[in-house]
Amino acid sequence: MSKVVVTGAAGFLGSHLCKELVRQKHEVIGLDNMCTGQLANIQPLLEDDRFTFVHADVSSPDVLFNTELREVEQIYHLASPASPRFYQAMALETIAVNTNGTKTMLELAKAWNAKMVYTSTSEIYGDPLVHPQSEDYRGNVATLGPRACYDEAKRMGEVYCYEYYRLYRVPVKIARLFNTYSAGLRNDDGRVISNFVTQALCGKELTVYGDGSQTRSFCYVDDTIRGLQLLMQCDEANGEAVNLGNPEECSINTLANLIIKLTGSVSGITYHPLPADDPKVRRPVIEKARALLGWQPEVTLEQGLTLTIENYRRQMH
Ligand code: UDP
Repeated sequence: MSKVVVTGAAGFLGSHLCKELVRQKHEVIGLDNMCTGQLANIQPLLEDDRFTFVHADVSSPDVLFNTELREVEQIYHLASPASPRFYQAMALETIAVNTNGTKTMLELAKAWNAKMVYTSTSEIYGDPLVHPQSEDYRGNVATLGPRACYDEAKRMGEVYCYEYYRLYRVPVKIARLFNTYSAGLRNDDGRVISNFVTQALCGKELTVYGDGSQTRSFCYVDDTIRGLQLLMQCDEANGEAVNLGNPEECSINTLANLIIKLTGSVSGITYHPLPADDPKVRRPVIEKARALLGWQPEVTLEQGLTLTIENYRRQMH
């Protein structure tokens, strides 16, 4: 059993990961500054002896003085607003946690010789000119635009990881996560699956932005977490970036119709302006994850949406 630090522990992905780590009997220290995290996500964990919650901002190096972090063996640095709605409302916090926060966690890893995984994003490919995206594609990102605070900060976070590996041999790996989903996102998260499922279940119109021809590739959270844990153990991936996502690509129109079908909803679809710099396509090449980790997603979009819908239904009653 290992001592594991998870930043962003009260967030969507962080809380799922902490629950899985505790289930596997690791000692888990969950950090969060609660800027987008929610206590409800970790409420069941707070009663577990294997879980300790630390309310702290990892963007500040002061966190390194926290004695709970001593002798850490693994660090998952997940902390960051991830929904466009939130990272745009908290642009400076988003930049800070992915740059300074990543540096702080790398210092922690260096101090205790801990393994580390940093969650980067498919957003580092921007509005891609190459499709699908493999890890060697360098991306098409605007430095001046509404998504830049997230995209460029994640890119800088990757640079920190690269340099700490090159200079100090910190065993850090970068996961480039493509859209991840399940139930459990905040009601006001604003991302497409939580919006569509809640709209469909409430009999409201589904709000498609643009003409709905843009595509995304959605990965169910259990697959993502399994991938992150495999990546943590993979020494061959030190200093490297690996795509983790589901190559099953789907247009937003197809997604809307599938959710209407699976919920049995009477909702229709309304069309709204496309946000600026919204990527037109996104699909991961996952050959590297397959080769290094023996990983590929197991949950199809239809299966994952069915589970997600069941959960949302339960929460709403
Ligand atoms: N989108 C949509 N309706 C919504 C929310 C999002 O059509 O209610 C679109 C959005 O414009 C984008 C895609 O769905 O093209 C995925 O958006 P999301 O915010 O979930 O994540 P992104 O991949 O853009 O970071």
